[in-house]
Amino acid sequence: MDSQDKHTSFFQKCKDFFVPYKGKRYVKRPTTWKTAVFAVLGICLLAAGGVFLFGNVFKENVVPVQKDLLEESNTSASLSAMKQEKIDIVLDAGHGGAQPGCVSGEMMEKDITLSVTMRLKDQLEKEGMSVLLTRDSDEDVELSDRAAMANESGARCFVSIHCNWYEEDPTVSGLDCYYYQDEEGMLLAESILYSASNHSIVTRESKEENFEVLRDTTMPAVLIELGFMSNPEELENLLSEEYQETLASAIAEGILSKIEESAGV
Ligand SMILES: [Zn+2]
Repeated sequence: MDSQDKHTSFFQKCKDFFVPYKGKRYVKRPTTWKTAVFAVLGICLLAAGGVFLFGNVFKENVVPVQKDLLEESNTSASLSAMKQEKIDIVLDAGHGGAQPGCVSGEMMEKDITLSVTMRLKDQLEKEGMSVLLTRDSDEDVELSDRAAMANESGARCFVSIHCNWYEEDPTVSGLDCYYYQDEEGMLLAESILYSASNHSIVTRESKEENFEVLRDTTMPAVLIELGFMSNPEELENLLSEEYQETLASAIAEGILSKIEESAGV
C-alpha cells in the first residue's frame, strides 16, 4: 500500500466512523480493531489535554490560594501556641529597685537574689523547662503582683529566692526553705533541701511560714533563703560566682526531681 492509499484509507475509516443523521453526524460503533484503537487514542488525547488545561488553571489560581491559607493557618497556629506556651516554673528574685532587702555594707540582698535567680533560670532552661521571672532587672515589683503573675501563668511551681539575716548570732548559717500549708509545697521544699545537702551546702529544716508570695500563689510554692548575709563567711560565699552556680545547680535539681516525681517519671 503506498502513502496515498494509506492517506485515503485513513480518511475513509474516519468517514466510516460517522453516519449522517438528519443533517448531523453521530458516532457509529467501530467495526474494526483499528478504528477502536483510533477512538481510544482520541479519548486519551482529549483527557490529557483536559488534565493539562485544568492543571494550569489550578496552578495559577487555586493552588496559591490554598498555599496562602496554609501559611495563614500555620501562622495562627504558632501564634496561639506561643500564647498557650506552658510555663513550668516561676522564679521570683526577692526585692529589687528601691527595696534592697538585707544590706551588709555595699552588698544588697536584691543583687544576690537576682544573680542566683538568673543562673537558676539558665540551669532549668538547659533541662527543657520554661521559666517565667517576676523580675529580670533591678526593679520594684509588688508582692501581690509577683503572686498574680505566677497564678496567671498557670505554672507548676513557684520559687522565691531571698537571703537571710540574724543579727543576734553571726555564726548562724545555712539554706532555709519555706512553704505554706500544702503538702506539695512541703515536698518541693524537702526536695530542694535534699539536693542542696548533696551539693555540700549547709541546710536547715524546711518550715511552714505565712509569707505573702506563698500564701497567695495557687501552685506548690517555696521561698528559699540562700544563706545568712549576717554571717561574714556565708556572705563571702553568697557573693562568689562559684557558690552561686552551686546554689543554682542544687536548687534546679531539687525542683526537677520534684516535678519528675509529680509527673510519675
Ligand atoms: Zn528577702
